[in-house]
Amino acid sequence: MTAFQDILEKIKHYDSIIIHRHMKPDPDALGSQVGLKEIIKYNFPDKTVKAAGFNEPTLTWIAEMDDVQDEDYKGALVIVTDTANTPRIDDKRYTKGDFLIKIDHHPNDDVYGDIHYVDTSASSASEIITDFALKTGLNLSNTAAKLLYNGIIGDTGHFLYPATTSKTLAIASKLRTYNFDFAAMSRRMDSFSIKIAKLQAYIFNNLKIDEKGAACILLTQDILKKFDVTDAETAAIVGTPGKIDSVQAWAIFVEQADGHYRVRLRSKSTIINEVAKRHKGGGHPFASGANSYSLKENEEIYQELKELLT
Ligand code: AMP
Repeated sequence: MTAFQDILEKIKHYDSIIIHRHMKPDPDALGSQVGLKEIIKYNFPDKTVKAAGFNEPTLTWIAEMDDVQDEDYKGALVIVTDTANTPRIDDKRYTKGDFLIKIDHHPNDDVYGDIHYVDTSASSASEIITDFALKTGLNLSNTAAKLLYNGIIGDTGHFLYPATTSKTLAIASKLRTYNFDFAAMSRRMDSFSIKIAKLQAYIFNNLKIDEKGAACILLTQDILKKFDVTDAETAAIVGTPGKIDSVQAWAIFVEQADGHYRVRLRSKSTIINEVAKRHKGGGHPFASGANSYSLKENEEIYQELKELLT
């Protein structure tokens, strides 16, 4: 595996750096992407560093993307954070730079980039970026620390999920020494709007649960419309079924505008990403995603989850 030092050398070498992350970003994607951007700018103020990708409206309170022009890629270093495979990289121009680096914590099924650093034992890409800065002696700014801390609590569910290790906590502890309003940020990450509260109530009332704790729920376009919730906003309810003590693993089928289903799979202790891989998806052992093309395929996915728990 590439050492942090090799990545630092590349950062030092290039004057122009563009950082990408995955589509449908979450707080860790944004935290690792813009956290790294802030670190580079703070330590190398003369470099041009930009964050590329779609501005997800529900998350612009965390960070906003830059206006990246085609010519910016000429002779640039491109770094992609938190993205396992190339089809999921937001903004396909990531190939247009001079040198490509992948930094990620998902299983390395798609080895892309001229060099890569992948640590599947890390809770989050934000944990890796912090580790990178600390180990290579780069300074963190308060803004970078806030973004990275936010990314870690996003991917660990406030240190609840099994991916939280002693190293995660040690790194988070370092980040907490910087000056940012930790309580306000944690509260924001933990709160939801009335419409999300109502959708949660719908989920609790309609969740199908079998005797082994396999659960599923279908969110049709009609349901999304009824609760005035977008596909991206379903991130706020992805952990909801797991609040029920008897639920062990669950699938949330979110109907998309084109009629196919985004499948969000979660589990407390049984590895479920093989199910995701069989249905055009992938991800972490306990948190993965897939695509389904019919109600029948949704049922098959639910059956596969059930079988894992027996
Ligand atoms: P999500 O339910 O979208 O939050 O996804 C959970 C995790 O599964 C993410 O961290 C992604 O790594 C992974 N994932 C989701 N959808 C896909 C997909 N279509 N292909 C590969 N990995 C995915």
